Amino acid sequence: MAQDTIWNTVSVAEAWRPLLSPDERVAILLPSDIVPVADLVAGVCEYLDLAHIRAYPFATGISSWDRLEAMWRTFRPTTVFVAPGVALQFTRVLAQRDQLEDIGGSVSKLMLLGEVNTPPFRRRLAQWWQSAAYDASYGSTETGTLAATCLDGYQHLLPAATYFELDTGREVVPLEGEGTGRLVSTPLNAYGRPLLRLDTGDEVSVRQDCSCGSTAPVVTVHGRASDGLLVRGAPLSVRSVEEVVYGSTDATGYLLEVDKSGDYARLLLERGFRTDREGESTARDLVQQRSEELLGLRWDSVVFVNSLPTNTKSGASQKSWKRSNIRQMEAA
Ligand SMILES: [Zn+2]
Repeated sequence: MAQDTIWNTVSVAEAWRPLLSPDERVAILLPSDIVPVADLVAGVCEYLDLAHIRAYPFATGISSWDRLEAMWRTFRPTTVFVAPGVALQFTRVLAQRDQLEDIGGSVSKLMLLGEVNTPPFRRRLAQWWQSAAYDASYGSTETGTLAATCLDGYQHLLPAATYFELDTGREVVPLEGEGTGRLVSTPLNAYGRPLLRLDTGDEVSVRQDCSCGSTAPVVTVHGRASDGLLVRGAPLSVRSVEEVVYGSTDATGYLLEVDKSGDYARLLLERGFRTDREGESTARDLVQQRSEELLGLRWDSVVFVNSLPTNTKSGASQKSWKRSNIRQMEAA
């Protein structure tokens, strides 16, 4: 087991090395319990000899937003590893306290991991923090880390750690050059938990020739086929919904409410930083208009709320979009 963990840590550390300078100060806002995603990042920091601190704000009795803010002022982190939901909540808290600019001042990189995060979400977060936002890694507990971000913001597969194949729907073929299909992985360094040919269930596209110069294949993960959702006959994906939500509003979170038949759908948006309600009806109109353009659907209603349930925010490795951002309602 220890050997497996070390292999994975070193493989990821080498992939992230170009992003992390030796004088980096790293804050790790990820859980260590049950889903020990913070442990990998801490291991990478130890291996690369970087100053780091773990501070998962939902660790009741240890961290809190106040304590996090106090730590921030002395440690002045330059890179933050954070779950997307936690990033949203932390941003909200700081903005409400009017501290975002001050606290965010030291940060140049946000490294998102542990949950699905999309390009429109990262663009919005980067704008709020005035820093770069990366989708840091891709993988699971079973497979280990399969890909890691490069400096140019693309994810590269780690072919030294895993043998990759693509299931095209007709056959499973070795991954060579370009291709599209479901990613199949065989870890090469798993001794404690040997695993043969796991179908990850994720639809991916693979290509070569990244602008960063790395020769490892670039992977774009489109998500699970089972994570798609049919609402009023329109197929919704996390990517397309977030293009609407984070692309056209400053909401700090969202929840889709759909009934079992998929006929009724309501979009709840969490009020951003502004407390005034002016402009919300304009924002609602814009969301409806963008939804028609991008999703091919009009919501029964678009509603702004003050806050959303914590399970959309705690970043506790809710890898399933359906579990964190979609609520199925019983018919009234
Ligand atoms: Zn690259």
